Amino acid sequence: MRILLTNDDGYLALGLRTLARAAAELGHVDVVAPDREQSATSHSLTLHFPLRVRETASGERVVDGTPTDCVMLAVGELLTERPDFVLSGINHGGNLGDDVLYSGTVAAAMEATVLGIPAIALSYAGKDVESIEAWGALVAELLRQLLLRAEFPGETLLNVNLPPVRPEEVAGVRVTTLGRRAYMGSLTRANDPSGREYFWIGGGESRWWGGPESDFQAVHSGYISVTPLHLDLTNYRLLEEIARWDLKL
Ligand code: MN
Repeated sequence: MRILLTNDDGYLALGLRTLARAAAELGHVDVVAPDREQSATSHSLTLHFPLRVRETASGERVVDGTPTDCVMLAVGELLTERPDFVLSGINHGGNLGDDVLYSGTVAAAMEATVLGIPAIALSYAGKDVESIEAWGALVAELLRQLLLRAEFPGETLLNVNLPPVRPEEVAGVRVTTLGRRAYMGSLTRANDPSGREYFWIGGGESRWWGGPESDFQAVHSGYISVTPLHLDLTNYRLLEEIARWDLKL
């Protein structure tokens, strides 16, 4: 099995190292990852600059672009064979609920799905980044169960979140829905040392909600959350109602 590995925290991230070691137990791993922090770049493509790729001593490809650039370049140009699976992560921080709309980690898996390649995004919902390494064996076991399935559902990616507990304390695995998350106070408006005004997005408090089946609830209760996502955002429940608006020119 050929596995393409990428992330949005940059190729040096501990989460990517941990995932690479776990995936190596299942097949040949090619790493094509951003050269720097690309979190929250969502599904963006680099169109207005050329992309440069360099190879590390251990054969990993490092791209000065986004996670989506990495998957597109890897599949279209860099890899000699099309991967059987794309894995993205392990992200430093959870990607739960509305986060999936901003996450570069999830977007890389989405790009693979667009290209028709089965994909899984993995994120660690804890704050202690150093502890990601301890998840290696458990992630390898989970990947074994997911990657070695006879059939992986089409047009679908799996969004996996690891709970903020020690791996030996995990309560189990839950299949979940996306919850909802809102941020408060995450906009800062201030002046720089030369007196010019700036704005800075980030930080603040987040509030989440969602039913007992939601990803937040699972992770909060110490479970690994597995959410199947598809890319069709059509609100099918509203098709008939909007049709009754009788829009015409
Ligand atoms: Mn990230």
